[in-house]
Amino acid sequence: MDKRRSARSRRIQRRRRQRNIILAALLGGLVIILVLVAVAVSRTGNDEQQQNQTLTNESQSTQSGETQTENTQNGTQGSSEVTAKGFSIQLIDGVTYVDGVLIANKTYGLPQSYAPGDLADEVKEAFEVMKKAAAKEGLNLYISSGYRSYTRQQTLYNNYVSKDGKEQADTYSARAGYSEHQSGLCFDLNTIDDSFAYTAESKWLEKHAQEYGFIIRYPKGKEEKTGYQYEPWHLRYLGVELATKVYESGLCLEEYYGITSEYAE
Ligand SMILES: [Zn+2]
Repeated sequence: MDKRRSARSRRIQRRRRQRNIILAALLGGLVIILVLVAVAVSRTGNDEQQQNQTLTNESQSTQSGETQTENTQNGTQGSSEVTAKGFSIQLIDGVTYVDGVLIANKTYGLPQSYAPGDLADEVKEAFEVMKKAAAKEGLNLYISSGYRSYTRQQTLYNNYVSKDGKEQADTYSARAGYSEHQSGLCFDLNTIDDSFAYTAESKWLEKHAQEYGFIIRYPKGKEEKTGYQYEPWHLRYLGVELATKVYESGLCLEEYYGITSEYAE
């Protein structure tokens, strides 16, 4: 009787153990499945983000009234997929976006057809907010040069070349198709002159522009990186978040993204 009983209880124990092993295996499997699902969901999220980013870029290009013309000038640019710092480079209708941000410099030009016609509304609104804040400090900010078309830039640049020569002109004026002014995302403030750096307005901008979404695009000491002389009056709109990040990094936009600003020839 006792023997039978103990044999039976051993059997029961064995079955329990087996059941426990099976349960543990099932539980382990469940955990693995949950982890896989979580990874898949987060990946989908990223894809959606990227898609949204692309859509934003495309709608920006469409808003600009850009036509789908072939652009040989920028055709080969942005062919690499990431910058030296690992940011994505996208070429959409001849316009380069780094990490979703439009870039116009000596390496990345804009097609002639890229013609938003004016500063973007977001840029104008951000400027008005900044202007009011500056006014409270007794400072006067005004836009002296905003959007410039491809042909307007062509005229300007050619005039500078005939005045100062090409090499000199390249340090302070963009060739047609390479001016950030063609993007509608930047402007020159007040007196476009070196003396502007000594004004209270310039000193205030150096400290506060990022709080309104702007950066001093061509900072002092970054001439080699930006490809341009120090221009305290030239502000580029990036939105408050990115402008603040760039400002706090102490880097110019080219360094921040790990890109160059050099003409191919
Ligand atoms: Zn400018």
